[in-house]
Amino acid sequence: MRIILFGSPGVGKGTQAKIISKNLNIPHISTGDILRKAVKEQTELGRKAGEIMSRGELVPDDLMIALIKEVLASDECKKGFILDGFPRTTVQAEALDKLFSQIGINDAVLINITADENEIIKRLNNRRACKQCGNIYVLKDIEGMKTCPNCGAENSFYLRNDDKEEVIKNRLEVFKSTTMPVLDYYKSKGRVIEVNGLDTIENVNKEIIEALKAKNLYH
Ligand code: AMP
Repeated sequence: MRIILFGSPGVGKGTQAKIISKNLNIPHISTGDILRKAVKEQTELGRKAGEIMSRGELVPDDLMIALIKEVLASDECKKGFILDGFPRTTVQAEALDKLFSQIGINDAVLINITADENEIIKRLNNRRACKQCGNIYVLKDIEGMKTCPNCGAENSFYLRNDDKEEVIKNRLEVFKSTTMPVLDYYKSKGRVIEVNGLDTIENVNKEIIEALKAKNLYH
């Protein structure tokens, strides 16, 4: 199964991707996570991407396309994958299509998770990430906690630079102007599932699974 999770920053793509990845036993490919790791490790890619990311802008298409080609060619992606954060431009979507046809993939489905913009701003402001493993938490769920429930790191919660209010606004603008057209591109191909992201994590997940089952894509 090849899934592209689509939606604005903060809509819950990463959370849903992790659950589906576990349930279907396919890797969760988050380009944001890959880039943050590269920034932390100060690789060449990380050095190029770090500043762009902290402004809430998009890393250039050529870098992202090269990165995704390398990841999708790896053995772990042979049985399927969930893409989270890619494609984010129509140039990336076209490159992905080309790559899919080269490697014989014709069953990819895009899941569009939707939510109101004001709700998204609230959510992003109220989330914290773990510096060690990158897991995302709602502030009130980790109040008073000293260790990350996922990896056990101590005092590792922080507000991501790009989750600060002024950067959030820029990310949402970039989403509307540059990433939304990707949805029309996939709609024209007829493989889009729409899911309402303004519900509990469990209910959103249920809705995704039901929609995949209805298309005979969830076994
Ligand atoms: P995310 O965690 O998916 O919100 O990604 C964090 C940041 O990484 C984004 O705001 C972009 O700066 C960068 N990024 C992630 N994926 C892409 C992509 N497909 N194209 C361009 N930039 C990306």
